[in-house]
Amino acid sequence: MSKHTGGCHCGKIKLETDLDPMLVSMCNCGRCRTLFGAVALVAMYADEEVSVVGETKAYEFIGGSGMQVINHCCADCGCRISSVAEAFPGMVMFVVGVFDNATSFEPKGEIFTNYKLPWLKDDGCIQESFEESAVSERIMLLLEALEDR
Ligand SMILES: [Zn+2]
Ligand SMILES: [Zn+2]
Repeated sequence: MSKHTGGCHCGKIKLETDLDPMLVSMCNCGRCRTLFGAVALVAMYADEEVSVVGETKAYEFIGGSGMQVINHCCADCGCRISSVAEAFPGMVMFVVGVFDNATSFEPKGEIFTNYKLPWLKDDGCIQESFEESAVSERIMLLLEALEDR
């Protein structure tokens, strides 16, 4: 029995992992607002830490860091599964909503707060907020999170 399991809406993509994410983070940027509906909540894992089965369709664009991002969606239902960002080599960001126990994933950091929906509040779980893409700060957060994982 894996610690975390999940998948897309139609069930053709399945994922599982025995590890907690290194970092759960929220993105408030306009691109994510279009792609996710409101805000992006992603669980960051190293490449090999989550096993994914099923066929995904890739969509490439330039992210807020100015570097390439590739989104992977279910080829059938279109559900967003994960993103791979050039800014974070070796890492995969899984959409929190595809995990069966998504309510147990709390964001610790957020970026692009200058674009944040004005009514959106958290319960204090977010410890680090950044106005822009904050790639180097997030890498520091990842390294800190690795120590107490
Ligand atoms: Zn699907
Ligand atoms: Zn974003």
